Amino acid sequence: MKVIGLTGGIASGKSTVSSALQDLGAVVIDADEVARLVVEPGQPAWRDIVAVFGEAVLNPDGTLNREVLGTRVFGCPERLQELNRITHPRVTKYFQEELRRIEKEQPEVIVVLDVPLLFESGMDKVCDEVWVVWIDRELEITRLQERDGLSRDEALQRIEAQMPLEEKVQKADRVIDNTGTVEDTFRQVGTIFHESIGKVTNTYEQKKGG
Ligand code: ADP
Repeated sequence: MKVIGLTGGIASGKSTVSSALQDLGAVVIDADEVARLVVEPGQPAWRDIVAVFGEAVLNPDGTLNREVLGTRVFGCPERLQELNRITHPRVTKYFQEELRRIEKEQPEVIVVLDVPLLFESGMDKVCDEVWVVWIDRELEITRLQERDGLSRDEALQRIEAQMPLEEKVQKADRVIDNTGTVEDTFRQVGTIFHESIGKVTNTYEQKKGG
């Protein structure tokens, strides 16, 4: 098993690249999806959130109301930190368990961890390789505005709240340039993927020292 960490800017094209990788036969684990799973009603993180933030952050059906929770933590670093303290370890644990399961069931497979905050969370350390999807700042603003219906200022604010994309590029093993067409990007991904398959080295367990 080889673990590739996939990251980038807020609308640089991670989902686009991860769908290309899925087509090539990789198993993709999406951090946003995991973040949703760990707060499903009854899960430990869900219980902790209700205990700390109250039932006012729930929808009538018991699921988490993300908008309300967002307004509770917005602009309050302590509350945001508290929320992260509840959710982050559960997300990490989920990833670790999934990797162990896949290692057992499909030892030859390439696993892609699609994680927007890969470096910030330290998850880059469990990856054999880190790939960063890059686009220039202007294109990132435009694509983010178009995708999420934001004003230019709103888009800029979200981009600037993250680690600069250039810094991620410096830390990357591979950089995918997504400024061209989707077809261009799929071609790059295909080339890099096949180069990378030839270099399967560490297993996840070896990397963890287990
Ligand atoms: P991320 O997952 O990094 O947030 P997405 O893959 O969702 O980014 O891409 C952001 C937006 O840009 C989406 O609306 C997507 O359809 C569009 N997009 C991505 N890659 C390209 C490309 N090469 N050409 C044109 N539009 C693109």
